[in-house]
Amino acid sequence: MPKVGITTTIPVEIVYAAGWVPVDLNNIFITDENPQALVEEAEIAGYPRNLCAWIKGLYSTVRRDENIRTLIAVTQGDCSNTHALMETLELAGVKIIPFAFPFDRDYDLLKLQIEKLMDAFGVDWQQVNEAKARLDLIRRKVWELDRLTWEENLVNGWDNHLYQICCSDFDSDPKAFAKKVDAALKKAKSGSPGKEELRLGYIGVPPIIDDLYDYLEERGARVVYNETQRQFTMPFNTGDLVEQYRRYTYPYGIFFRLKDIEQEIEKRNIDGVIHYAQSFCYRQIEDLIIRERLKLPILTLEGDKPNRLDARTRMRLDAFLEMLR
Ligand code: SF4
Repeated sequence: MPKVGITTTIPVEIVYAAGWVPVDLNNIFITDENPQALVEEAEIAGYPRNLCAWIKGLYSTVRRDENIRTLIAVTQGDCSNTHALMETLELAGVKIIPFAFPFDRDYDLLKLQIEKLMDAFGVDWQQVNEAKARLDLIRRKVWELDRLTWEENLVNGWDNHLYQICCSDFDSDPKAFAKKVDAALKKAKSGSPGKEELRLGYIGVPPIIDDLYDYLEERGARVVYNETQRQFTMPFNTGDLVEQYRRYTYPYGIFFRLKDIEQEIEKRNIDGVIHYAQSFCYRQIEDLIIRERLKLPILTLEGDKPNRLDARTRMRLDAFLEMLR
């Protein structure tokens, strides 16, 4: 089956309905045995040093994988750097299919974009809705994993992050992914609840550093809410695909996101929030709005390269947890 690269969550139902395999390039990049080498390859090709490492990693991931010759480019609602990323990949012979989330969440405009994507893949509404029904069954399992995280303390922060983030492309194999989720649910339900005294929320783009969750748990704090990752699971009970992608907060403005964040913080009884901001990302600016609006302690963390936590960040995390106690 042909593969199509994606750089963020898109209506993946369309891709599966067409018999294509979606590949979330972020997951391929960050799980590479040497993601920093991918960043450096992009710099050698001419990407600037002062640019978000995710973009550079995605570029090199596509250049290395000859099976990914088509990409869906989210031209609105993701990242302005994606535009130049797509242009450089188009130069390298990759076919680009554009998709835009309308800034004002207009239903008709979003429906038009979804139908244009359906045309590009040659599928109709019946096929897409059937794919949605199949994927929703898997999403429900991941919702349960999230519930076990915050309501019963049975899932750790990393697993909560991992299974939810994989819902962008269902690991390119929904059946195999569903089995992995079943196994994770079984393991969680037979385990003992976590005893961490502090409950944290994680908001912002997913982290480029891989030991954050473990580090926090070693120090008695557990992430029980991963904002963006949870959004990737489409946690909305609706049979309307257009409405589903209207309720999905990530591509829209910060104020729409904040409504969801405030609601989940309240529901999950959270003590403090980590706002992760990627170096050179425009979303860093939104930190000032988040700080103004959220009424609980916030630590803003900045990550740059794919790596482990550095000494300075560890000290800042320690001081934050101490303050929360
Ligand atoms: S972290 Fe920010 S700059 Fe980097 S790809 Fe994501 S949105 Fe774009």
